Amino acid sequence: MLRRILIANRGEIALRVIRACHELGIEAVAVYSTADRGSPYLDLADEAICIGPPESARSYLDIPRIISAAEIADVEAIHPGYGFLAENAHFAEVCASCNIQFIGPPAEVIASCGNKSKAKDLARQAGVPVVPGSDGPVDSVEEAVKVARGIGYPVIIKAAAGGGGRGMRVASNEVSLRHGFQQAQSEAAAAFKDPTVYIEKFVENPRHVEFQILADAHGRVIHLGERDCSIQRRHQKLIEESPSPALTPELRERMGEAAVAFAREAGYVNAGTVEFLLDREGNFYFIELNARIQVEHPVTEEVSGVDLVKWQLRVAGGEALALAQEDVDLQGHAIEFRINAENPERNFAPTPGRIEQLVLPGGPGVRVDTHVCAGYTIPRHYDSMIAKLIVTGPTREAAIRTGLRALGELRVEGPGIATTVPLHREILARAEFVNGQVDTGFLERYLES
Ligand code: ADP
Repeated sequence: MLRRILIANRGEIALRVIRACHELGIEAVAVYSTADRGSPYLDLADEAICIGPPESARSYLDIPRIISAAEIADVEAIHPGYGFLAENAHFAEVCASCNIQFIGPPAEVIASCGNKSKAKDLARQAGVPVVPGSDGPVDSVEEAVKVARGIGYPVIIKAAAGGGGRGMRVASNEVSLRHGFQQAQSEAAAAFKDPTVYIEKFVENPRHVEFQILADAHGRVIHLGERDCSIQRRHQKLIEESPSPALTPELRERMGEAAVAFAREAGYVNAGTVEFLLDREGNFYFIELNARIQVEHPVTEEVSGVDLVKWQLRVAGGEALALAQEDVDLQGHAIEFRINAENPERNFAPTPGRIEQLVLPGGPGVRVDTHVCAGYTIPRHYDSMIAKLIVTGPTREAAIRTGLRALGELRVEGPGIATTVPLHREILARAEFVNGQVDTGFLERYLES
């Protein structure tokens, strides 16, 4: 078992990891930028080290500063959280070369899964269905046109190194493909330092269904069911739930087996997520593997009773998974709402500022994962998510009712601060959501209307 680790992240996920560490008797060292100085969650860490100014590039993304902090604090391992350095293969390698364990998969696995085009090759090898498209990278407009003619329009041009909902461009005909192709390459080069793009069929009105994987270093790989993340804006998730209203037990079993097969093929270790698109006919296609803990992991924890962050720490400490696939027992329904400090009325512009009044919901079936409190100033430098509200009930209907009740209790007030809470309440009132009939285009269509 690990003794002392450093968390190379901030906010709610840093606090989530601190909590898991303390329940396991592991010491947790936090790092912070000057923008996060004084955040109350830092007091809960066993030690907190300032690593630089607010800009992420000079603090949370600055590998030498983080490694120095780890050496000064004398930790054995680093938990990267999500975002920042979480899927950075170079960082994982640097950790290894400094004799610090990276809490996540090996660097080579991060590298092969981080390139979406290579990951698709792995999926094909594992016999997992992928979205029809190019075999690997596409270098020229002519090649792109040829691929698109073969699979039919619309197509999506994707950056191999893309992530976070960025680096994707839909082309509905040859003119827009010719027009968008080079732009996609130069945008990919600028945003991800890698111009590689590939092409696949644009699946119309799919659902986003992803499977949670846990793998230990002794060859055991299991899945803990799915999360449906179809409520998205600009390919970014806003609401996630488990189980998916679209899955039958038979489809869950097939998709879960595919997810496990992919993880095995990739040599995956630790917690990860295999993402699929599910079309209206019940066909599913692998899109990518996220080699980290995800924002939406709590919904899986709520229905499975498995603490994923603790298992990340245990697996990194060399422990074997105590759970076999047949022991996984999924119960009830959980929904997560991302509470972002942004204004849906103003095109989701971030609303940083000081929180003067904060009322967090509670009661049966309510979990809130957050690092904020009254008096906290939301910095303008980072992601705008300030809290996650997770509600649980015996059925989906019950979870929705608890969600409405809890969202009604939640108050985040301060000058200029707006949140996604009113939007969540509107979504929960829509018949399409209540009936479980949404797809990844639902929210954009609703916002347009
Ligand atoms: P990222 O790594 O940036 O999150 P993903 O590959 O996971 O990107 O895709 C994010 C979202 O983009 C999906 O949930 C889906 O809504 C949309 N998407 C990606 N590929 C396709 C596709 N081939 N057809 C339709 N939608 C897609």
